[in-house]
Amino acid sequence: MNTDSTANVNPTRVEELWFADGNVVIQAGNSLFRVTKGILAARSSTFCDLFALPQSGDFETVDGCPFVRLPDSAEDATAFLRAVFDSSFFERPPNPTTLSDILGILRLSHKYDVAYLRRRALLHLETRYPTTLEAYDASPTAATFDVTNHSDHLLVARLAMQVDAPWICPAALYSACCANIESICGLDSGDPRVPDFLPKAWIIGCAKQHQAYASRPSYYVYIMLPSTRRTCLRPEFCIEVAAKLVDLMAVGDYRAWPDPLKTWRLEATAARPWCGHCLDVSRPKCATYRVEWWSCMPLNYGFPSWPELLAIRDAALS
Ligand SMILES: [Zn+2]
Repeated sequence: MNTDSTANVNPTRVEELWFADGNVVIQAGNSLFRVTKGILAARSSTFCDLFALPQSGDFETVDGCPFVRLPDSAEDATAFLRAVFDSSFFERPPNPTTLSDILGILRLSHKYDVAYLRRRALLHLETRYPTTLEAYDASPTAATFDVTNHSDHLLVARLAMQVDAPWICPAALYSACCANIESICGLDSGDPRVPDFLPKAWIIGCAKQHQAYASRPSYYVYIMLPSTRRTCLRPEFCIEVAAKLVDLMAVGDYRAWPDPLKTWRLEATAARPWCGHCLDVSRPKCATYRVEWWSCMPLNYGFPSWPELLAIRDAALS
Protein backbone atom coordinates (compact mmCIF):
# COMPACT_ATOMS: atom_id res chain seq x y z
CA MET A 1 0.00 0.00 0.00
CA ASN A 2 1.37 3.39 -0.95
CA THR A 3 1.47 5.90 1.88
CA ASP A 4 1.53 9.63 1.26
CA SER A 5 3.53 10.71 4.27
CA THR A 6 5.00 13.86 5.72
CA ALA A 7 7.84 11.57 6.79
CA ASN A 8 9.12 13.49 9.82
CA VAL A 9 8.34 16.26 12.26
CA ASN A 10 7.46 19.28 10.13
CA PRO A 11 10.12 18.93 7.48
CA THR A 12 10.66 22.08 5.45
CA ARG A 13 10.78 22.34 1.68
CA VAL A 14 13.95 23.89 0.29
CA GLU A 15 12.33 26.10 -2.34
CA GLU A 16 15.38 26.42 -4.57
CA LEU A 17 15.55 22.62 -4.75
CA TRP A 18 11.82 21.92 -5.06
CA PHE A 19 11.21 21.49 -8.77
CA ALA A 20 7.62 21.24 -10.07
CA ASP A 21 8.67 18.54 -12.53
CA GLY A 22 10.79 16.69 -9.94
CA ASN A 23 10.01 12.98 -9.66
CA VAL A 24 11.63 12.03 -6.35
CA VAL A 25 11.40 13.64 -2.91
CA ILE A 26 14.50 13.43 -0.70
CA GLN A 27 14.69 14.23 3.00
CA ALA A 28 17.92 15.02 4.85
CA GLY A 29 17.70 16.26 8.40
CA ASN A 30 14.59 18.36 8.48
CA SER A 31 14.78 19.53 4.86
CA LEU A 32 12.84 18.24 1.86
CA PHE A 33 14.00 18.36 -1.77
CA ARG A 34 12.01 17.50 -4.90
CA VAL A 35 14.45 16.79 -7.69
CA THR A 36 14.82 14.81 -10.90
CA LYS A 37 15.87 11.17 -10.63
CA GLY A 38 17.41 11.07 -14.10
CA ILE A 39 19.85 13.92 -13.45
CA LEU A 40 20.85 12.59 -10.04
CA ALA A 41 21.33 9.08 -11.44
CA ALA A 42 23.45 10.42 -14.32
CA ARG A 43 25.81 12.16 -11.86
CA SER A 44 25.92 9.55 -9.09
CA SER A 45 26.39 5.81 -9.51
CA THR A 46 25.04 5.30 -5.99
CA PHE A 47 21.75 7.03 -6.78
CA CYS A 48 21.65 5.29 -10.16
CA ASP A 49 21.78 1.92 -8.39
CA LEU A 50 19.25 3.05 -5.78
CA PHE A 51 16.69 4.22 -8.34
CA ALA A 52 17.16 1.03 -10.37
CA LEU A 53 15.99 -1.14 -7.45
CA PRO A 54 12.50 -2.52 -7.95
CA GLN A 55 10.00 -0.69 -5.71
CA SER A 56 7.99 -2.80 -3.35
CA GLY A 57 4.25 -2.23 -2.99
CA ASP A 58 4.49 -0.29 0.28
CA PHE A 59 7.07 2.35 -0.65
CA GLU A 60 6.50 5.80 0.76
CA THR A 61 5.50 8.71 -1.41
CA VAL A 62 5.45 12.45 -0.83
CA ASP A 63 3.49 14.70 -3.19
CA GLY A 64 2.95 11.65 -5.32
CA CYS A 65 6.69 11.09 -5.77
CA PRO A 66 8.82 8.23 -4.44
CA PHE A 67 10.41 9.24 -1.14
CA VAL A 68 14.03 8.70 -0.09
CA ARG A 69 15.36 9.54 3.35
CA LEU A 70 19.11 10.21 3.61
CA PRO A 71 21.08 9.98 6.88
CA ASP A 72 23.03 13.14 6.00
CA SER A 73 22.67 16.62 7.46
CA ALA A 74 20.34 19.12 5.80
CA GLU A 75 23.26 21.52 5.37
CA ASP A 76 25.42 18.96 3.55
CA ALA A 77 22.55 17.75 1.37
CA THR A 78 21.54 21.28 0.40
CA ALA A 79 25.07 22.15 -0.74
CA PHE A 80 25.46 18.82 -2.55
CA LEU A 81 22.11 18.96 -4.38
CA ARG A 82 22.60 22.61 -5.32
CA ALA A 83 25.96 21.70 -6.83
CA VAL A 84 24.32 18.89 -8.82
CA PHE A 85 21.30 20.86 -10.06
CA ASP A 86 22.73 24.38 -10.40
CA SER A 87 25.88 24.44 -12.52
CA SER A 88 26.68 28.02 -11.47
CA PHE A 89 26.56 27.28 -7.73
CA PHE A 90 29.88 25.49 -7.20
CA GLU A 91 32.33 26.33 -9.95
CA ARG A 92 36.00 25.42 -10.14
CA PRO A 93 38.71 27.58 -8.51
CA PRO A 94 39.47 30.45 -8.67
CA ASN A 95 35.72 31.11 -8.29
CA PRO A 96 34.96 31.88 -4.63
CA THR A 97 32.95 29.58 -2.41
CA THR A 98 32.56 28.81 1.31
CA LEU A 99 34.24 26.21 3.50
CA SER A 100 30.85 24.91 4.63
CA ASP A 101 29.79 24.24 1.01
CA ILE A 102 33.14 22.63 0.17
CA LEU A 103 32.97 20.25 3.14
CA GLY A 104 29.32 19.31 2.53
CA ILE A 105 29.91 18.71 -1.18
CA LEU A 106 33.14 16.79 -0.58
CA ARG A 107 31.55 14.57 2.07
CA LEU A 108 28.53 13.63 -0.05
CA SER A 109 30.21 13.52 -3.47
CA HIS A 110 32.65 11.00 -1.98
CA LYS A 111 29.85 9.03 -0.33
CA TYR A 112 27.54 9.01 -3.38
CA ASP A 113 30.31 8.76 -5.97
CA VAL A 114 30.05 12.01 -7.89
CA ALA A 115 33.61 12.17 -9.15
CA TYR A 116 33.62 15.62 -10.76
CA LEU A 117 32.25 17.32 -7.63
CA ARG A 118 34.67 15.45 -5.36
CA ARG A 119 37.55 16.58 -7.57
CA ARG A 120 36.31 20.17 -7.62
CA ALA A 121 35.91 20.29 -3.82
CA LEU A 122 39.46 18.98 -3.35
CA LEU A 123 40.84 21.57 -5.79
CA HIS A 124 39.16 24.28 -3.70
CA LEU A 125 40.73 22.88 -0.51
CA GLU A 126 44.14 22.86 -2.19
CA THR A 127 43.96 26.63 -2.68
CA ARG A 128 44.45 26.96 1.09
CA TYR A 129 46.09 23.61 1.90
CA PRO A 130 48.50 23.06 -1.02
CA THR A 131 51.34 20.62 -1.57
CA THR A 132 54.15 23.09 -2.36
CA LEU A 133 55.73 25.85 -0.33
CA GLU A 134 55.31 28.32 -3.22
CA ALA A 135 51.57 27.67 -3.34
CA TYR A 136 51.37 27.88 0.46
CA ASP A 137 53.00 31.32 0.38
CA ALA A 138 50.45 32.40 -2.24
CA SER A 139 47.49 30.93 -0.34
CA PRO A 140 46.50 34.08 1.61
CA THR A 141 45.38 35.64 -1.69
CA ALA A 142 44.79 32.48 -3.76
CA ALA A 143 42.41 30.72 -1.33
CA THR A 144 38.86 30.54 -2.69
CA PHE A 145 37.26 30.46 0.78
CA ASP A 146 37.68 31.99 4.22
CA VAL A 147 38.29 30.16 7.46
CA THR A 148 36.61 31.99 10.30
CA ASN A 149 36.86 29.39 13.04
CA HIS A 150 40.36 28.21 13.88
CA SER A 151 39.32 24.62 14.63
CA ASP A 152 38.01 24.33 11.04
CA HIS A 153 41.56 23.48 9.91
CA LEU A 154 41.44 20.37 12.09
CA LEU A 155 38.02 19.37 10.73
CA VAL A 156 39.35 19.74 7.17
CA ALA A 157 42.23 17.37 7.99
CA ARG A 158 39.85 14.85 9.52
CA LEU A 159 37.49 14.91 6.53
CA ALA A 160 40.43 14.70 4.11
CA MET A 161 41.42 11.42 5.79
CA GLN A 162 37.85 10.12 5.58
CA VAL A 163 37.69 10.80 1.82
CA ASP A 164 41.15 9.37 1.03
CA ALA A 165 42.78 12.74 0.34
CA PRO A 166 45.81 12.68 2.71
CA TRP A 167 47.77 15.25 0.66
CA ILE A 168 45.47 17.95 2.06
CA CYS A 169 46.39 17.06 5.66
CA PRO A 170 49.94 18.41 6.22
CA ALA A 171 49.06 22.05 5.40
CA ALA A 172 45.70 21.75 7.18
CA LEU A 173 47.33 20.37 10.33
CA TYR A 174 50.11 22.96 10.13
CA SER A 175 47.46 25.70 9.93
CA ALA A 176 45.54 24.13 12.83
CA CYS A 177 48.67 24.10 14.98
CA CYS A 178 49.51 27.77 14.31
CA ALA A 179 47.60 28.49 17.50
CA ASN A 180 47.67 28.04 21.21
CA ILE A 181 46.42 24.71 22.48
CA GLU A 182 42.99 26.03 23.52
CA SER A 183 42.23 27.23 20.00
CA ILE A 184 43.43 23.99 18.43
CA CYS A 185 41.04 22.02 20.60
CA GLY A 186 38.19 24.46 20.06
CA LEU A 187 38.07 25.23 23.77
CA ASP A 188 38.19 29.01 23.39
CA SER A 189 35.44 29.02 20.74
CA GLY A 190 33.39 26.27 22.41
CA ASP A 191 33.37 24.42 19.07
CA PRO A 192 31.66 21.07 19.81
CA ARG A 193 32.76 19.58 16.47
CA VAL A 194 36.38 19.08 17.54
CA PRO A 195 36.86 15.43 18.49
CA ASP A 196 38.10 14.55 21.97
CA PHE A 197 40.73 12.19 20.62
CA LEU A 198 43.17 12.96 17.84
CA PRO A 199 45.70 10.63 16.19
CA LYS A 200 48.93 10.40 18.19
CA ALA A 201 50.98 11.38 15.13
CA TRP A 202 49.04 14.63 14.82
CA ILE A 203 49.70 15.51 18.45
CA ILE A 204 53.42 14.76 18.01
CA GLY A 205 53.52 16.94 14.85
CA CYS A 206 51.83 19.76 16.72
CA ALA A 207 54.37 19.50 19.54
CA LYS A 208 57.23 19.65 17.01
CA GLN A 209 55.76 22.78 15.44
CA HIS A 210 55.41 24.53 18.79
CA GLN A 211 58.92 23.44 19.71
CA ALA A 212 60.33 24.85 16.45
CA TYR A 213 58.63 28.15 17.13
CA ALA A 214 59.90 28.26 20.70
CA SER A 215 63.47 27.62 19.52
CA ARG A 216 63.67 30.92 17.61
CA PRO A 217 66.07 32.52 20.14
CA SER A 218 68.69 29.81 19.69
CA TYR A 219 68.22 30.05 15.94
CA TYR A 220 69.05 33.74 16.06
CA VAL A 221 72.22 32.91 17.90
CA TYR A 222 72.98 30.36 15.20
CA ILE A 223 72.42 32.66 12.23
CA MET A 224 73.97 35.78 13.69
CA LEU A 225 77.00 34.98 15.75
CA PRO A 226 79.23 33.28 13.16
CA SER A 227 78.81 36.17 10.73
CA THR A 228 79.20 38.88 13.33
CA ARG A 229 82.42 37.28 14.60
CA ARG A 230 84.01 37.06 11.18
CA THR A 231 82.97 39.65 8.63
CA CYS A 232 80.26 41.78 10.20
CA LEU A 233 80.59 45.40 9.17
CA ARG A 234 79.29 46.70 12.54
CA PRO A 235 79.95 43.90 15.09
CA GLU A 236 78.91 45.67 18.27
CA PHE A 237 75.72 47.00 16.73
CA CYS A 238 74.66 43.72 15.08
CA ILE A 239 75.40 41.65 18.19
CA GLU A 240 73.32 44.05 20.22
CA VAL A 241 70.37 43.74 17.77
CA ALA A 242 70.59 39.94 17.84
CA ALA A 243 70.83 39.95 21.63
CA LYS A 244 67.72 42.10 21.88
CA LEU A 245 65.81 39.76 19.59
CA VAL A 246 66.90 36.71 21.58
CA ASP A 247 65.93 38.46 24.78
CA LEU A 248 62.54 39.43 23.38
CA MET A 249 61.76 35.93 22.14
CA ALA A 250 63.11 34.12 25.14
CA VAL A 251 60.46 35.80 27.27
CA GLY A 252 57.98 33.67 25.32
CA ASP A 253 54.27 34.01 25.00
CA TYR A 254 52.32 30.86 25.25
CA ARG A 255 49.34 32.50 23.59
CA ALA A 256 51.46 33.49 20.56
CA TRP A 257 50.77 31.94 17.14
CA PRO A 258 53.46 29.32 16.53
CA ASP A 259 53.95 29.80 12.82
CA PRO A 260 57.63 29.03 12.04
CA LEU A 261 57.07 29.25 8.26
CA LYS A 262 55.74 32.78 8.60
CA THR A 263 58.40 33.83 11.08
CA TRP A 264 61.27 32.74 8.87
CA ARG A 265 59.60 34.08 5.75
CA LEU A 266 59.59 37.50 7.37
CA GLU A 267 63.18 37.03 8.41
CA ALA A 268 64.14 35.96 4.88
CA THR A 269 62.69 39.14 3.38
CA ALA A 270 62.77 41.76 6.12
CA ALA A 271 65.28 44.61 6.21
CA ARG A 272 66.40 44.09 9.77
CA PRO A 273 68.59 46.89 11.16
CA TRP A 274 71.67 44.71 10.71
CA CYS A 275 74.63 45.43 8.54
CA GLY A 276 74.52 44.38 4.89
CA HIS A 277 76.76 41.41 5.46
CA CYS A 278 74.69 39.99 8.31
CA LEU A 279 71.56 40.39 6.19
CA ASP A 280 73.26 38.56 3.32
CA VAL A 281 74.19 35.73 5.67
CA SER A 282 70.93 35.41 7.56
CA ARG A 283 68.44 35.63 4.68
CA PRO A 284 69.42 32.45 2.83
CA LYS A 285 69.67 30.57 6.13
CA CYS A 286 66.09 31.53 6.94
CA ALA A 287 64.94 30.66 3.43
CA THR A 288 66.66 27.26 3.66
CA TYR A 289 65.07 26.64 7.05
CA ARG A 290 61.60 27.16 5.51
CA VAL A 291 62.29 24.75 2.65
CA GLU A 292 63.57 22.11 5.07
CA TRP A 293 60.58 22.60 7.37
CA TRP A 294 58.10 22.25 4.50
CA SER A 295 59.87 19.17 3.22
CA CYS A 296 59.61 17.46 6.64
CA MET A 297 56.06 18.62 7.37
CA PRO A 298 54.17 15.50 6.18
CA LEU A 299 56.58 13.23 8.10
CA ASN A 300 56.18 15.36 11.24
CA TYR A 301 52.45 14.57 11.21
CA GLY A 302 52.90 10.88 10.44
CA PHE A 303 52.22 11.01 6.68
CA PRO A 304 54.33 9.76 3.77
CA SER A 305 56.71 12.22 2.09
CA TRP A 306 55.47 14.86 -0.35
CA PRO A 307 56.45 12.83 -3.45
CA GLU A 308 54.40 9.89 -2.17
CA LEU A 309 51.46 12.14 -1.28
CA LEU A 310 51.64 13.76 -4.72
CA ALA A 311 51.51 10.34 -6.36
CA ILE A 312 48.34 9.56 -4.36
CA ARG A 313 46.90 12.94 -5.37
CA ASP A 314 47.66 12.50 -9.05
CA ALA A 315 46.09 9.06 -9.09
CA ALA A 316 42.99 10.33 -7.25
CA LEU A 317 42.44 13.45 -9.35
CA SER A 318 43.37 12.14 -12.77
ZN1 LIG B 1 76.60 42.76 10.96
